[in-house]
Amino acid sequence: MRALRIVAEKQVIVRDRPRPVPGEGEVLIKVRASGICGSDLHPYRHPTPGHLTQDFIPGHEPAGDIVEVGPGVAGWSVGDRVVVYFRRTCGECINCRTGRSEICFHRMGSYGHLNGYDGSDAEFMAVHTRCLLQLPEYLSYVEGAIIACQAGTAYWPLKRLGVSGRDTLVVSGLGPVGLLAILFAKPMGAHIVGVDPSAGRREIAASLGADHTIDPTAGPVGEQIQAIVPERGTCLIETSGSSAAHAVIGELVRAGGTAAIVGLGNPEFKMPMMMLAHRELTVFGSSIYPDTMFAEICTFIRDRGVKLERVVSHYMPLEKGPEAFQIAEQATSGKVCFTFD
Ligand SMILES: [Zn+2]
Ligand SMILES: [Zn+2]
Repeated sequence: MRALRIVAEKQVIVRDRPRPVPGEGEVLIKVRASGICGSDLHPYRHPTPGHLTQDFIPGHEPAGDIVEVGPGVAGWSVGDRVVVYFRRTCGECINCRTGRSEICFHRMGSYGHLNGYDGSDAEFMAVHTRCLLQLPEYLSYVEGAIIACQAGTAYWPLKRLGVSGRDTLVVSGLGPVGLLAILFAKPMGAHIVGVDPSAGRREIAASLGADHTIDPTAGPVGEQIQAIVPERGTCLIETSGSSAAHAVIGELVRAGGTAAIVGLGNPEFKMPMMMLAHRELTVFGSSIYPDTMFAEICTFIRDRGVKLERVVSHYMPLEKGPEAFQIAEQATSGKVCFTFD
């Protein structure tokens, strides 16, 4: 089968790999859609020696069909349409049993990540049934791939923020996760202000429902947002991972406001103490979503008519892997997604 591999800094190749054989408790999936996520770009930009020597396949946003069932599998059949929850969780710890599987105490590696399991930038992947989610008929494979990581990553912190029609939500970073946050926050009723240095991304954000956008390079963001919303945002979702964005969270949110930190890509998180303590901000981290929330996300999308594919700017075949990663890396487009025949 054809599969991608990272071979050097900002270099991906398409090569042949033996088709995996599903082991005990696993199924073989024919991948129909696989999205490129911001977290795929970290090893692409800065591969560690492990990334280059371990022959792992990237991609953790898989949607496809079960084409083979391994030994000991019950409840799943050939032909089932599925999405993969890319983190292997234990299913038994207190967090897994109370709907917080995204912070399982005994995580067992992730699909498409180093020291985990082969991912979905390939024609086939073998997956443990513990990680399978049923893709409803009313959603496309591309929509499934978007929910697999980024849409859930956007939805879960909005839910924790309790976003409603009483809120002005600031979306910091208008990459795919930021754009998805806009698509979800709009039907939740929020007034939305998007922040990103890319004019192209601000334009996409406006077309998806952002009421206002701010260019952080055009002047102090605190002054810019106060010209639009004098009291500033009630809450904020930070998706860019940039330290410049972290530093100004307190200028974008009003005193007593709350910020959800979602974007990675920066090993440190720093914001001025004067902002945090004196203005009594609440800041929390968020990392994908509990697998039990998948069904709620799907029905929200159906019932609110959320058009997830509007965040996709490029649909590409796997053979164009090198080009697809280059486009995603430039951080000026919408989402890049591999589709398969
Ligand atoms: Zn991801
Ligand atoms: Zn667990």
